[in-house]
Amino acid sequence: MLVSRGASRHKISEYPDSLNKSPESIVMAAKTHHPGESVVHRGVYLVLHYLHRSNHHCRIETGSFPTCNVCLHRVQFEITSGTQSAPLIWDDPDFRPVAAAAKSTDNRTS
Ligand SMILES: [Zn+2]
Repeated sequence: MLVSRGASRHKISEYPDSLNKSPESIVMAAKTHHPGESVVHRGVYLVLHYLHRSNHHCRIETGSFPTCNVCLHRVQFEITSGTQSAPLIWDDPDFRPVAAAAKSTDNRTS
């Protein structure tokens, strides 16, 4: 007969952190993402620009990581915990799609 219930009762704290990292904690470790990569974990990211601007936080929910309007593909993203009040990435002037604004003037009838 199978006695599987007992196996789930051991405490997580029995495992030394240094030897037994859970997959989740590895994902949460500082890993940089680049424009074009799919957003797997939605949340607040630290945005690292190339020279023109200091680091800032933005919320990224779905899709893929965008390119910066200024430093383009040199921008990088690092997931952070906390700072849930950070603005959406699309509200940031450096990530606002410029193509959408240009398209609206394309449609005039004069
Ligand atoms: Zn930039």
